[in-house]
Amino acid sequence: MALIELRDIRKRYPAGEQDVEVLHGIDLDIEAGEFIAIMGSSGSGKSTLMHILGCLDQPSDGEYRFAGRPITEMDHEQLAWLRREMFGFVFQSYHLIGTASAWENVALPAIYAGMPRDERKTRAQRLLDELGLGERLENRPNQLSGGQQQRVSIARALMNGGQVILADEPTGALDSVSGEAVMEQLRGLARRGHTVIVITHDAKVAEHADRVVELHDGRILDDRRRRPHHGDKVRAVAEPPKRSGLPDAGEIGEAVLMALRSLRANWLRTLLTLLGIVIGVGAVVVMLAIGQGAKQDVVARISDRGTNLLVIRPDRGQQRVADGVIATLVPDDAKALETLPNVRTAVPEISGSVTARANGQDVSTSVQAVTPAFTSLRDWQPVQGIFFGEQDQNAYAPVAVIGQTVKDTLFPDGDPLGQFLMLDSIPFQVIGVMGAQGATDWGDDQDDVVFVPLSTGTLRLFGQNYLRSITLAVDDVSRIDATEQAAVDLLIQRHGQRDVRVFNMASLLDMVSATQNTLTMLLGSIAAISLLVGGIGVMNIMLVSVAERVHEIGIRMATGARQRNILQQFLTESVVVSALGGIIGVAAGVLVGLLLGGFGMAIVFSVPVMVASFFCAAVIGLLFGFAPALKAARLNPVEALSND
Ligand code: ADP
Ligand code: MG
Repeated sequence: MALIELRDIRKRYPAGEQDVEVLHGIDLDIEAGEFIAIMGSSGSGKSTLMHILGCLDQPSDGEYRFAGRPITEMDHEQLAWLRREMFGFVFQSYHLIGTASAWENVALPAIYAGMPRDERKTRAQRLLDELGLGERLENRPNQLSGGQQQRVSIARALMNGGQVILADEPTGALDSVSGEAVMEQLRGLARRGHTVIVITHDAKVAEHADRVVELHDGRILDDRRRRPHHGDKVRAVAEPPKRSGLPDAGEIGEAVLMALRSLRANWLRTLLTLLGIVIGVGAVVVMLAIGQGAKQDVVARISDRGTNLLVIRPDRGQQRVADGVIATLVPDDAKALETLPNVRTAVPEISGSVTARANGQDVSTSVQAVTPAFTSLRDWQPVQGIFFGEQDQNAYAPVAVIGQTVKDTLFPDGDPLGQFLMLDSIPFQVIGVMGAQGATDWGDDQDDVVFVPLSTGTLRLFGQNYLRSITLAVDDVSRIDATEQAAVDLLIQRHGQRDVRVFNMASLLDMVSATQNTLTMLLGSIAAISLLVGGIGVMNIMLVSVAERVHEIGIRMATGARQRNILQQFLTESVVVSALGGIIGVAAGVLVGLLLGGFGMAIVFSVPVMVASFFCAAVIGLLFGFAPALKAARLNPVEALSND
């Protein structure tokens, strides 16, 4: 059995309406270890035949068996395996990767065979040494002469063993001396047991071979054996892999290294692509931090005024009015409400404006008549003196606790404690000064107030006991809605109708939170769109990158890269860019956030958001890099190689 058996091989190319046939039924057997020249004039179909022999291209018709195995039944993976493990190519135009050094070019096929990097380098150096290029390991192809480049490509053909060397016009671009040297090397390989197939239009080159096959217009004209072949047996050919294995860690590590190298080679382009992702990820991080900060700000301000409070007020719509006052709620209602479950305290309140006078000064201020429990409703205590207690309340004591504003206007210098204050001409003794509370959200000064006991207020100041509000403090906020219902039911029972409205701080909080969440979502989605735009930038640049490197892809495929390797290479590149952009973007987002925080903006960072936006960027790289990478992986090796 011959190593290579071709039976009635035909190759047609589409040309206009009809196909044009360039190989018209080739029958050829090549034994293992033969040194054979395929000779013919330009256009006779030599290169086409070689591409078929080397599994770079498929015949349109006919049968090709390699070591007895029909290659027409092999899939991409197995063909790549044959190219990688069995064949070594030497081309007229060398087909070296311009951005890689001599030794890296030689080592290329071993990457796809899974050889460790150190071992690869040692072997590549040894091969180059043997070919007299030991001094040129680190040189780029454009720093080498034609003859030297061809020797690099011979070394590359031998890297994975190169049982069958396919050389297409190996001397075509060389001067006669270098050409002779290359042919000598090929002859040496044949002597060492390699099967060498040289393609040439030059009879003098063909002279070197032991057998010359003459091709004319896609047909074999002549097949001469110049020296007898001492039939080497077909060497055992390992089983080709059944199906594609999963990429291992080493393979992915290689892909990342290659990606970084190519990204560095085009650093400006990489920078701009990165920028797109950085802006996208940074925007997501900052926008959500701003949204979250704004929400917490509002929520904190509402919570300050107590989320555990229910404020009950008369319903203006339908009430009996006595002396201009809505006559609904009375202090006894508060006592009744206080007995409800989950109600900690119920504080009744009447308020109105009065003229306060002291030290010969007059001011208009508001007075609030409340029960002593008032101070426990909110975290608001006297800073001087005391608040009035139950005794004052029961004794109708004419005592007052004043806010900071009232203190500042009526007692600017001197201690107000123990002093008298006239409220609408009725004297009250000051027993305490409240701590400063500041303005409300709508600008009212909360410190412009005088507190008096409810009993004294109803009797002396207001002359009636209808309340402006009852504020309930609940123990368990989670049951606040049930408590609200119970309070309303109780008041309906007491008043015979529903005549109050209840303000629930907790539900206000829910509503405000929901509004703020919507705002955050809006900010977040604008940012997400910019991330998407960044992703489109990645795709764009990957398409350019693939288009630029078609030739390199062809070289990689000819040296045995699987489709999967090519796919991985480009996918890794886009994921590396996006992930790098993601990391920098998160850092940039945090930086901008801190800066805004420094200017007083409320910023709340969220680690899950950072992690999520980083992964989003990486996934975007994967998704948007996929189409370009697939395009690269599906290239036809012959067409890719011819793209010089
Ligand atoms: P040689 O290497 O002997 O000079 P080739 O094998 O390169 O010849 O080409 C043989 C014939 O096939 C030529 O006529 C060429 O124009 C044609 N040919 C080669 N490749 C293609 C292709 N991809 N599409 C169409 N025609 C092709
Ligand atoms: Mg040719």
